[in-house]
Amino acid sequence: MANHAGRHFLQIPGPTPVPERVHNAMARSMMDHRGPAFCEFGQKLFADVKGIFKTQQPVIIFPSSGTGSWEAALTNTLSPGDHVLVMETGQFAVLWTKMAERMGLKPEVIANDWRSGADANALEARLRADSSQQIKAVCVVQNETSTGARTHIDEIRKAMDAAGHSALLMVDTISSLAAMDYRHDEWGVDITISGSQKGLMLPPGLSFTAVSQKALAASKKATLARAYFSWDDMLAINGSGTFPYTPPIGLLFGLAETITMLNEEGLSNVFARHERLAEATRRAVKAWGLEVWCQDARAYSPVVTAVEMPEGHNSDAFRKIVLENFNMSLGTGLSKLAGKAFRIAHLGYTNELTIMGALAGVEMGLELARVPHNKGGVSAAMAYLAQAASPATAQAA
Ligand SMILES: *Cc1c(COP(=O)(O)O)cnc(C)c1O
Repeated sequence: MANHAGRHFLQIPGPTPVPERVHNAMARSMMDHRGPAFCEFGQKLFADVKGIFKTQQPVIIFPSSGTGSWEAALTNTLSPGDHVLVMETGQFAVLWTKMAERMGLKPEVIANDWRSGADANALEARLRADSSQQIKAVCVVQNETSTGARTHIDEIRKAMDAAGHSALLMVDTISSLAAMDYRHDEWGVDITISGSQKGLMLPPGLSFTAVSQKALAASKKATLARAYFSWDDMLAINGSGTFPYTPPIGLLFGLAETITMLNEEGLSNVFARHERLAEATRRAVKAWGLEVWCQDARAYSPVVTAVEMPEGHNSDAFRKIVLENFNMSLGTGLSKLAGKAFRIAHLGYTNELTIMGALAGVEMGLELARVPHNKGGVSAAMAYLAQAASPATAQAA
């Protein structure tokens, strides 16, 4: 690449940019992970991380990508041949289904059009029909990163309760935690799965599993094989602030710093910022005369916006032009969206001016790639962000 000046614009939905404060927190000498200093740090960290999930229950941290926590959720609570129901909203739900198959489970899928969130009514109807309660777990992705569609988890919980069904509720928040509202306890989620490199603004390498008492009880009876990802081994030692094996010390110090940063800003402000940047992005897309991939306004993602490419234009050819000319990485179209859509992430360590830079790069890229569009997307986003900022300014004055 000819031009390396300025920073690279990493506008993909993970990994996301890591704040300088977090880099500094991670850059430290190694220490004895069973010594008193680490154990004191670990005890505070295990307590503090609960706030991000809005839970009083244990949050288990594995050294793995988010995918590892999918596996942990399944193997710790289920037995060979168990039926699980996956709400298929996009590619990540598909990958979770494939994993369940590989583990010897019997996944069943409720698919949608991949342009909206999971259908709580369809879930309720399916669970009502399962009168023998054969389904042991319901798997839902809160933010389907491949399509830019969210699912309202409180509605999923209500559907399960209305059906009187006892299946465990497992929710993937890998791209939504610390970016949109999430309440593990209040929403009655049994297992919440997450990862470090998206809303949490960390490098990849940590996965998270928040568990309920019901999930812990299920883990006592479940017979799928589990070893590295055993919850028992973790919970037996986490109380003393450390791990059954060598933890990724640097990443954990980074996590402590991102939790501090999130609490300084306030989680509700963090969520509002994501909503604002997402709305600005959608206004730009509409002004360009392009389509937001998600077709249901209630399901618009505050994390990532997938944009449909006009007929006859390839989204990856467009992304290549943007990368080569403006040093910006946009998200590729995954699976069914390959070549048909690109994704603009507005996730993590990002603000008004970084999203404006990203949208300017997209608008210039559309011109260079000769994609038919109207000018004025950047102006529309700017007008919205200025107006959205003014109440705070008025308050301060
Ligand atoms: C990124 C992502 C994953 C995969 O996480 P890895 O950390 O890459 O293993 C799974 N689900 C969702 C919703 C994601 O966004």
